[in-house]
Amino acid sequence: MRVEQLGDGEPNLAVVGSIHGDEPCGAHAIEALLEADPDLERPVKLIIANERALDRNVRYTETDLNRVFPGNPDAPAYETQLAHELLHEIRGCTTLSMHSTQSYSQPFAIVDETGPLARTICPHLSIEVLVETGGFVENTLVGYVDVIEVECGLQGSAEATENAAELVEEFLAAAGALSGPIESETNPIPVYQLQRQIPKDPGSSYAVHVENFERVDAGAPYATHDETEMRAEEPFYPVLMSSHGYERQLGYAADRSGTL
Ligand SMILES: [Zn+2]
Repeated sequence: MRVEQLGDGEPNLAVVGSIHGDEPCGAHAIEALLEADPDLERPVKLIIANERALDRNVRYTETDLNRVFPGNPDAPAYETQLAHELLHEIRGCTTLSMHSTQSYSQPFAIVDETGPLARTICPHLSIEVLVETGGFVENTLVGYVDVIEVECGLQGSAEATENAAELVEEFLAAAGALSGPIESETNPIPVYQLQRQIPKDPGSSYAVHVENFERVDAGAPYATHDETEMRAEEPFYPVLMSSHGYERQLGYAADRSGTL
């Protein structure tokens, strides 16, 4: 884990990149910010989290870091120890954590629930939608600190890196760390709440037939599993859904829960 700081004093703002090692956009955005070394009104801690997985271009080396919070310093798995160290670094910090996906090219944000932090920061981010996990996905970072996770684009793409750099600047401006104009004209952001996982059999092949965040009606076919069509039992909105993103799930089914 690489921990850096810009600005003087004890930071209560943090930016985290590459919790997943095959999502380099966050690390690149942090390196670019360190290189630019802007004048800051508030000190910021910058953390490249899973350097070992980043070096190998894998999601994780032993276990998924974003499924083992709060971690354990005595655990055998590298990422479980790392989760403990990372939480120690960012506890008390308002945090932006950058990810990328295999399922959606446009930036969106993920929070535990839409509270004051999301209401303050998210309208200033270039995001299409906001996803609430509602405590549904266990042991992820959003359950343990004041964090906004952003999915910056498609894994490994140049666009994801550009978006990550832009989202960091917007986050720092919204938090009052970067002076300069804050985007004052904000668009309404649709909010989706995760309801359930859509499981996947790791031994089979899948094709997904629907777009993320676009409503799937009851009875509509949304994927093919080997030769079998999968149809929606009730209407839902697909989130983080792709045929190859996760080993044991196609993605999530969400409801529209409002507008920010
Ligand atoms: Zn990720």
